[in-house]
Amino acid sequence: MAKFQAIKGTYDVMPADAPAWQHVESVIRARARAFGFREIRTPEFEDTALFVKGTGEATDIVQKEMYTFTDKGGRSLTLRPEGTPPVIRALIEHGALKESPCVKVFYLAPMFRYERPQAGRLRQHTQFGAEIVGAESPLADAEVIALLFTTLQRLGLSDLTLRLNSVGCPACRPAYRDKLVAHFRPKLETLCGNCRERIDRNPLRILDCKADRDKVQDAPAAVDSLCPSCAAHFERVKSLLEALAVPYALDKTLVRGLDYYTRTAFEVASPHLGAQDALGGGGRYDGLVEQLGGDPAPGVGFGAGLERFLLAIRNQGVPVPAGQRLDVYIAALGMAATVKGAELSGALRGKGYSCEQDLQGRSLKAQLREANKLNARYVLVIGDDELAKGSASLKDMDTHGQREVPFAELANNIEAYCECSCQG
Ligand SMILES: [Zn+2]
Ligand SMILES: [Zn+2]
Repeated sequence: MAKFQAIKGTYDVMPADAPAWQHVESVIRARARAFGFREIRTPEFEDTALFVKGTGEATDIVQKEMYTFTDKGGRSLTLRPEGTPPVIRALIEHGALKESPCVKVFYLAPMFRYERPQAGRLRQHTQFGAEIVGAESPLADAEVIALLFTTLQRLGLSDLTLRLNSVGCPACRPAYRDKLVAHFRPKLETLCGNCRERIDRNPLRILDCKADRDKVQDAPAAVDSLCPSCAAHFERVKSLLEALAVPYALDKTLVRGLDYYTRTAFEVASPHLGAQDALGGGGRYDGLVEQLGGDPAPGVGFGAGLERFLLAIRNQGVPVPAGQRLDVYIAALGMAATVKGAELSGALRGKGYSCEQDLQGRSLKAQLREANKLNARYVLVIGDDELAKGSASLKDMDTHGQREVPFAELANNIEAYCECSCQG
């Protein structure tokens, strides 16, 4: 029979890899808490129209990358390709912005995109995202950027670059758009096929075209076309980033792929990732809440891929803490000893120790090998002799010392016999 395989663009996190994931997730949760972001969890699938409207009909995501299906009730549903529209939908639906004028939330959740199957392109990836909804203040921009940047620093990543730009607002962007069209129209023939289409649909996207990287350097910059309020906002974002000790580099070609961005756009990159160097990015989306049916409210946020964090950690050679080791492995020989072992493991687990016992009736040698493999701190050996004496032998796997411990002492006072600080 043919063997099943994980679907192209998906992957398994096997137990050996889980500690690295748990480490990244716990650093993220601690940082989010430090900044006062609360967790939000939304469903894996939504009404397709939410993304067509929220993400934008002209975007690559909606045009080419969504996993859209019709359910048995005839509804068009889509696996979440990005986190922001569902979060905004949930905040509107639950009246969160009526209860509080400003909401700060984060999420850790899988996203689904039908990416072209090249190296490193996943069809299900895990995203760390955060949103501040309800605040127009440039401090909100600086805080979401600082949350992402300092999380990456806490993970031990160095040589990070924060690229920063402002793409303006509905008042000043049309004029900028016109300038870009006027700049690129005469050179249209030199641009790639995608960009020749983009010039009418979304000329800003020409700026972040990978194929035309060398042809956009002399293009007009959005920051030179900002209206006075966008320009003042951007100046304050920059000075607040300085106050938060987050270094930035201005990048006029940074426009981000989504339709809804206004004003601040940013991206954090690592040189340890190769050509696709972004760890995550985001920006301000002041029109999105209203566009999705809520009362007008500004917003700013980011999305970042955990797989990329882990890749950068690995490539940079940052050590990742190992998973927690097993406290006690119980090696029992024979049924009576197994029953005694179960009694002791129950008592030890009750006191907060992690405890494992052989499930396959293996030899003592095989059980000790297993304990070694599990990196157990202690092994309790129980056989007929031990049962007769009413005590077990406690082996310290680090010092290789061994001592006899009465069963009653094991359950109630094992700390007195341990040389380590393995504590529940
Ligand atoms: Zn403006
Ligand atoms: Zn192009």
